[in-house]
Amino acid sequence: MILIKIDKQSTVPVFRQIIHQLAFLIDGGVLKVGDRLPASRMLAAQLGVNRATVYRAYEELWAAGYTESRPGSYSVVRARMTMNVDPGPPGSLIDWAGIGRESRLVGQSLTFAGRKLFQGEIINFRPLSPDSRLMPVDDFRKCMHDVLVKEGASLLQYGDTFGYRPLREFLVRHLQKHGIQVSVDEIMLTNGSQQSLDLILRFFDKPGLKVAVEQPSYSQFINLLDFYQAQVVGLPMGENGADLAEVDRIFVREKPAFFYTMPNFHNPLGISTSQEYRERLLKLCETHRVVLIEDGFEEEMKFFGKAILPIKSMDSKQVVIYLGTFSKVLFPGLRVGWIAADKACISHLAAIRQIVDHSGNQLSQAAIYKYCISGYYDLHLKRLHREYRKRMQAALKAVREFIPEIIRCTKPSGGYLLWMKMPDDRIEESVLLEKLSGAGVSVSPGQLFFSEKQTIPAFRLSIAHLDETEIRLGMERIGRVLSEVYGR
Ligand code: PMP
Repeated sequence: MILIKIDKQSTVPVFRQIIHQLAFLIDGGVLKVGDRLPASRMLAAQLGVNRATVYRAYEELWAAGYTESRPGSYSVVRARMTMNVDPGPPGSLIDWAGIGRESRLVGQSLTFAGRKLFQGEIINFRPLSPDSRLMPVDDFRKCMHDVLVKEGASLLQYGDTFGYRPLREFLVRHLQKHGIQVSVDEIMLTNGSQQSLDLILRFFDKPGLKVAVEQPSYSQFINLLDFYQAQVVGLPMGENGADLAEVDRIFVREKPAFFYTMPNFHNPLGISTSQEYRERLLKLCETHRVVLIEDGFEEEMKFFGKAILPIKSMDSKQVVIYLGTFSKVLFPGLRVGWIAADKACISHLAAIRQIVDHSGNQLSQAAIYKYCISGYYDLHLKRLHREYRKRMQAALKAVREFIPEIIRCTKPSGGYLLWMKMPDDRIEESVLLEKLSGAGVSVSPGQLFFSEKQTIPAFRLSIAHLDETEIRLGMERIGRVLSEVYGR
């Protein structure tokens, strides 16, 4: 007879107690392969429990691979693969390095943990996402609750590949405020702009693909281009954008498939291009039939002066693929963005998206929709503007006060970013960043934003996660290091 003890006062259900004890006896070798378990009727009588309880335990043991049974006969302990109790020396049989296409980030730490050179609070000028302290969590929680109550399980099903339709319809109306006229068929929701960029590259991908990119540009786009083995044709950025005569020459000579640009609050420079520049750039794309990818990642973050309309608002010939995201004003963790483009282009991208990840997260999309139509979005945006206007003013004032004049620093009219470029190569970028780290500030290395090696150091500062006092203190520390290297 097998000895099993049941505790009827326990919070663990009886059938689970039976499973645990029988599995323990089998794992420990007390019950061997081929041994019979007692008939369910007998065990039930022995334990003083219902037969159905034992039956359920036996079924689960069978499902977990412990026993086998034929209808009407006993359950028998079955031979199983040995468990990996002692994994032995670490390592896999497979040599994963070089097995396929690799991201250039392989081997790098994918979580940020700077070297602790400074004893005290590090001022972190790196993160480019809204400050968690300003996130409207309560209002959003209400929206999430409302949509779940109202729409229930349908939001937890697979959704439409193009995304939750009411949000797409909302975006049609919302984009009109920025002069963009698109229909609902010309919008697909994505899991953020990073996915939008990936879908675009999957669509354009072919051997020898050439892409024209501003230098510097968004680092994760450069990494993506590298992953797809695209050839990067770099266009150096000045204070007012790229040199358009050079863009023209490059379009003729290199015939890139598309040009990727960030007209507002460029990442990493923080600058915005003028209306005239945007018109001329669009004209060049039309003339040479080069697709223009316009990354409007911070479209709504203009807080000094009048907003300049996106290039997509002038796109009568449908050459622009416009990307938007909720990551920089609401919640990056929700992963909701969109692509607005010609209907035929959207249907190609949707067909790819269908095989890549089927559809997006409907619950997030529906909750964002609710958040927007309830008026919360506009209020939240006003609050962000008020806050970041103050922060950017504090940053620009501190630059004037602490940073040596010889260092060039951009003057953004919105967004979160500033860019500092050193006058010469008297110090290596990595050494300079080490010094900054030692002084208690963390910044993003300029090199991240270029596809070619740079000799003159530069770095990106994001004021997204810092309040005015922290920004001032951080700039003072940066100023001290830079004055030491370059003099006041
Ligand atoms: N474009 C730019 C310029 C960005 O800076 C980022 C995020 N840092 C993205 C796209 C991607 O944003 P998300 O995928 O969160 O929408």
